Amino acid sequence: MRQLTSSQPLPISQALTPEEKIDKLVELVCELMPTHYWCDGDNWYSCPKAPEGCADDSRGPECDCGAEMRKADVITRLLDLGIDPNKFL
Ligand SMILES: [Zn+2]
Repeated sequence: MRQLTSSQPLPISQALTPEEKIDKLVELVCELMPTHYWCDGDNWYSCPKAPEGCADDSRGPECDCGAEMRKADVITRLLDLGIDPNKFL
């Protein structure tokens, strides 16, 4: 996988219109939105908020994988930019 640094532009084609670039950016942010940890094959280790939940009831119902905190950070940063976060959720 190609590593990007802050000095390298994202590989978005210059041929795209500004509106198409925004659509691509929305798509990218949606793909990168944090999700709850899910352990394929053994949901004992999955976050309780993962779609199939966690088999370890002692962990309670709340997120313990950090996804909620990372998602809240992304939403705050979108709001700081004046962007409605609902289109990304
Ligand atoms: Zn979680």
